[in-house]
Amino acid sequence: MEKNFDWENLGFGYIKTDYRYVSEYKNGSWDEGKITTDENITINESACVLQYAQTCFEGLKAYKTEKGNVVCFRPDLNAKRMADTALRLEMPPFPENRFIDAVVNVVKKNISWVPPYGSGATLYIRPFLFGKNPVMGVKPADEYEFRIFTSPVGPYFKGGAKPIILRVPDYDRAAPHGTGHVKAGLNYAMSLHAICEAHKLGFNENIYLDSATRTKIEETGGANIIFVTKDNKVVTPKSPTILPSITRRSLMYVAKNYLGLKTEEREIFKEELNEFKECALCGTAAVLSPVGKIYDHNNIINFPAGMEKMGEITQKLYDTLTGIQMGKIEAPEGWIKVIE
Ligand SMILES: *Cc1c(COP(=O)(O)O)cnc(C)c1O
Repeated sequence: MEKNFDWENLGFGYIKTDYRYVSEYKNGSWDEGKITTDENITINESACVLQYAQTCFEGLKAYKTEKGNVVCFRPDLNAKRMADTALRLEMPPFPENRFIDAVVNVVKKNISWVPPYGSGATLYIRPFLFGKNPVMGVKPADEYEFRIFTSPVGPYFKGGAKPIILRVPDYDRAAPHGTGHVKAGLNYAMSLHAICEAHKLGFNENIYLDSATRTKIEETGGANIIFVTKDNKVVTPKSPTILPSITRRSLMYVAKNYLGLKTEEREIFKEELNEFKECALCGTAAVLSPVGKIYDHNNIINFPAGMEKMGEITQKLYDTLTGIQMGKIEAPEGWIKVIE
């Protein structure tokens, strides 16, 4: 039975749940891991994570399906992505099979925190990994901690998804050959100033360009982007400095194999934005958020789908993917991990 909670009015913020998973890496190996109730971490003042930001994370959700199962969506891809990120940051990857087992384990322990079916709320799962022992010179830590905590989060859009407004900032997110393709905390630290500035100016998010030429569309600070052409092709930017969103990869599959649409991953130039009829952000938190307008300094791109509701194709993609996640539509093999 679920906790007694006002699930519909929950926001997207941290709420302490009962249990979290922790495993420590020392002397070249990971320990067996355990479940703990302690949400606080005590570390040395010179821990590598504090001085040199040696940390990365993942984000996924557990939710109830129509049939009452508790499931999560493609956790194997989060496990793989975190391992890729860890290697890029010179951290020992947490074994992928153990990552999935730990997710299952920590959700089972917090099962009463998984919101009821139909509430729109979900249990957000946050795996993270950081360098723990003191370092002084610039080098990777020798000791690490891998943790997973959970927090119930409310429906991302209360009262339906309203289109948002993006701006093209004068800041860049990712350098060529840098860390844009991995889920490193440092990518977020340096995006905070740009997001605060965007909010102050009345925009919802920043849409970043490729920093080498500043002519191509990449993504926002925490979500990938898709476009729909006037002849209903679903297009997404191709770039080595974009974070490979699991939601985006799933949506492209759904567009092609469930909706019979043409799909394309290719370079998208800023100049082409006027040619698309729909635009949306995609990521675990909201699945899809429609974009109504993009401000590129004095140039304003108004997508024909407008500022009132999701575009027609965006809505179909949203309904199909969330239908698959909630067990209303049959999922491709291996997409749904049943926890209980
Ligand atoms: C996490 C993240 C996304 C979304 O990825 P999902 O796997 O779909 O949640 C997109 N862009 C960035 C920069 C991210 O960190």
